[in-house]
Amino acid sequence: MNISITKTTTPKAKPTMDNLPFGKYFSDHMFVMDYAEGKGWYDPRIVPYGPLELEPSAMVFHYAQEIFEGLKAYKSKDGHVRLFRPYKNFERMNVSAERLAIPALDVDFCVDALKQLVELDRDWIPEQEGASLYIRPFIIATDEYLGVRPSDTYKFLIICSPSGLYYPEGLDPVKIYVEDKYVRTVRGATGFTKTGGNYASSIKAQVIAHERGYSQVLWLDGVEQKYVEEVGSMNIFFKIDGEVVTPMLNGSILSGITRMSTIELLKKWGVPVSERRISIQEIFDAYQAGKLEECFGTGTAAIISPVGELRWEDHVMTINDNQIGEITQRVFDTITGIQTGTMPDEMNW
Ligand code: PMP
Repeated sequence: MNISITKTTTPKAKPTMDNLPFGKYFSDHMFVMDYAEGKGWYDPRIVPYGPLELEPSAMVFHYAQEIFEGLKAYKSKDGHVRLFRPYKNFERMNVSAERLAIPALDVDFCVDALKQLVELDRDWIPEQEGASLYIRPFIIATDEYLGVRPSDTYKFLIICSPSGLYYPEGLDPVKIYVEDKYVRTVRGATGFTKTGGNYASSIKAQVIAHERGYSQVLWLDGVEQKYVEEVGSMNIFFKIDGEVVTPMLNGSILSGITRMSTIELLKKWGVPVSERRISIQEIFDAYQAGKLEECFGTGTAAIISPVGELRWEDHVMTINDNQIGEITQRVFDTITGIQTGTMPDEMNW
């Protein structure tokens, strides 16, 4: 399919690229493609970024049949645009699509569309340290209908946002609240997908955690509230007595691309790493025994975020004296080095 391109005639003023907030400004263009039952995906186009016109009855507004992705583009010192493992994002989008009864996408075609869009808006890629062009592909159900069933029509869009760090703390350790009242998902639900509903239902716990002075919540499993799952928009890793442990993919946590990359790096370095079920009690016991050495979150937005404090019920665990741990720093340096092109990409990412 050929992608038609309509360039903007009124380019927007760019924000100052120093101290950019996350996800607040949007580039000049967006990619759009439609789907209709019997016709498949059609009319792929790059057009000026702007509002969509949708009927109030569009199904996405009522039953949240939608999915999304998130990835980043960087510009290296020599001016090359670099994407980090974009095929993985569209493969994961198809996993989400399958669960939400949304038609699948052609992964190669989407990466190509994304490259054309980012190339057109390359001047929107910030070059400041820590900043990047955050890319948000998403699909919404557009049938004008109020019954509950899969939509017969969809829109797929990609928008781009020049963004700074996700956490204002940067690489300073964050404080995380272990959520013991609300749950994010349950067995058999949509926890492993990137669909808006997962995030909508998580907002309240995050608001409460913020009020208590914590940046994010750490979710426990939705059945027994015993086992650690993931943070709001990050997977979680613990270094316990020399071994790095992260919760296994059990159907309710998102298969993070930064998580996958971290595990691959640790294995390459010969650092013991295991994906398994891990309870919050086990973490607390390790903490009390002085064996909880490091804790960090992984995710596209923050990349690697050291955790300096975990609060579980009345227990406050201060990790590694609120300092960045050795493994945390090494994973951060390597992934960001590969992303920005300052380190050789030995992993072919
Ligand atoms: N868990 C959740 C719930 C997320 O939203 C994200 C961000 N996509 C992650 C984990 C991390 O995934 P990734 O490394 O692919 O960004």
